[in-house]
Amino acid sequence: MLKLLRRMKRESEPEPVEPPTETVGLAQLDDAETVGQVFPGLRHLAVNMSIRAPDHEIEPSLTNRSFGPQSRAYFNFRCKNVECVDGGFDLRDEVSQAVTEGRCDATGRRVCQGWRNAEMAGHQRCYFELNFKIHLSYKE
Ligand SMILES: [Zn+2]
Repeated sequence: MLKLLRRMKRESEPEPVEPPTETVGLAQLDDAETVGQVFPGLRHLAVNMSIRAPDHEIEPSLTNRSFGPQSRAYFNFRCKNVECVDGGFDLRDEVSQAVTEGRCDATGRRVCQGWRNAEMAGHQRCYFELNFKIHLSYKE
């Protein structure tokens, strides 16, 4: 009887909760160095992005991202085309160049070179357009 009670107790204990394992890009994030490591002189960095569809039919999607010295130095931003395959915008070179030149801002335009959707892969590029502005501030 005691044995049975013990077993019942054990069975009623909650299952251990597994941490979520599926997160896109997490492995890359884990590997990425911090902004402070890559750009020691940088105090703060903000990226303002406006991404719009090639037909300009929908309102551009606006995103602001902010980075401090402890943030991961990962500047690969997702394309706003939900069906996009292998697209996205990596602004690491732009950020690097701006820091090297000691600039306080940098602007630019990029066109997504992914594929429009899975069916069009290999035929039709995504061509969503990113306009970005990077704001940088430096340590004294
Ligand atoms: Zn895209």
